[in-house]
Amino acid sequence: MNNQEWTQEGQKYVMNTYGRLPLAIVRGKGAVVWDADGKEYLDFVAGIAVNNLGHCHPKVVQAVKDQAETLLHCSNLYWIEPQIKLAKMLVNNSCFDKVFFCNSGGEANEGAIKLARKYAKKHMGTDKYEIITMKQSFHGRTLATLTATGQEKYHQGYEPLPAGFSYSPFNDLEALKKNIGPHTCAVLLEPVQGEGGVVPGQDDFIKGVRKLCDENKLLFIVDEVQCGLGRSGKLFAYEHYDIEPDIMTLAKALGGGAPIGALLAKEEVAGAFQPGDHAATFGGNPLVTAAGVATLTVMLEEDLAQNAHMAGEYFICKLEALKKKYPFIKEIRGKGLMIGVECEKEVAGIINDCLAKGLLILSAGPKVLRFLPPLNITFSQIDQAMEILESALAN
Ligand code: PMP
Repeated sequence: MNNQEWTQEGQKYVMNTYGRLPLAIVRGKGAVVWDADGKEYLDFVAGIAVNNLGHCHPKVVQAVKDQAETLLHCSNLYWIEPQIKLAKMLVNNSCFDKVFFCNSGGEANEGAIKLARKYAKKHMGTDKYEIITMKQSFHGRTLATLTATGQEKYHQGYEPLPAGFSYSPFNDLEALKKNIGPHTCAVLLEPVQGEGGVVPGQDDFIKGVRKLCDENKLLFIVDEVQCGLGRSGKLFAYEHYDIEPDIMTLAKALGGGAPIGALLAKEEVAGAFQPGDHAATFGGNPLVTAAGVATLTVMLEEDLAQNAHMAGEYFICKLEALKKKYPFIKEIRGKGLMIGVECEKEVAGIINDCLAKGLLILSAGPKVLRFLPPLNITFSQIDQAMEILESALAN
């Protein structure tokens, strides 16, 4: 079947929740994907920060094949070998002590909200439950996480929303200070906002949030679902700020393409969950955690975070040159290979033009182009993408 036929079939049978482009991606290798018409694309979306190793990394594929032949699923009634291995790797490479596995970013944040509330009830008193999140943030599509999300467009139509969330402008410490109230138990933020337009947290702000949380005995939760796992140029984005959060959530890139989420916490915080308090049938199952072990191993062995840093600098340099030529480009920002280009006009036309010319990119809001290539992208692939982008900008 070709793109058009898949599009028609999809429209007929699949619920219409995504604004999809009229093509079906059927194969991927490294930073390249192919559609059902056989057309090749350079992929600077990478599954929205999922394919940090590129598509179908041979070591991930092998690990999934081996695990599928050994044990696909059992249950969290028993210990699961690759789950323990992945938890150990995450703990050894972060400031956290314990890991809970689930299946997505939204579910990881849902778990973080529950853990923060449990901890607060135990250690702060029964009247502490409110979580302050940032305006323009994005934390997921479950009822609690869409409420945590600081963009009203995600709330509309789903009311009544769960209580216990309030919103503070990102990168504004004075406003956050004022927003801390008698019921506050935690602050939740993305160190680099993704969906909200690729906005990095400022150094003073993130450090200030840590200090403010310490002074007020609040938990500091970072959502690294999009910016974590090498994407920002460090393994975890919080490392840029020389701070240690109390809780962190991961998903997307952790499984190298397999669906997995994780909630990490400091020992004392993790202890608020006792047997029976939280669960997920498929959470940390052998297949996805085997994929996770292979993914994290490659990421560490090949130092893809450092590659993201270097390739990101090169990429931004090239974009700065374009900014001089095209005055409708307002700002270029980001960290590592999480890069946003804010324009004075809507960017849908540019994205469609790039698509037609064989480059996949995405937006973050109507006026921001977002680039999330695999972390092992080469300079020559960046050059190739820049050529296509420039021809789209010139249109
Ligand atoms: N948090 C952040 C920062 C995200 O970018 C996303 C997804 N875009 C999520 C949470 C939700 O993740 P998922 O779609 O896996 O539930």
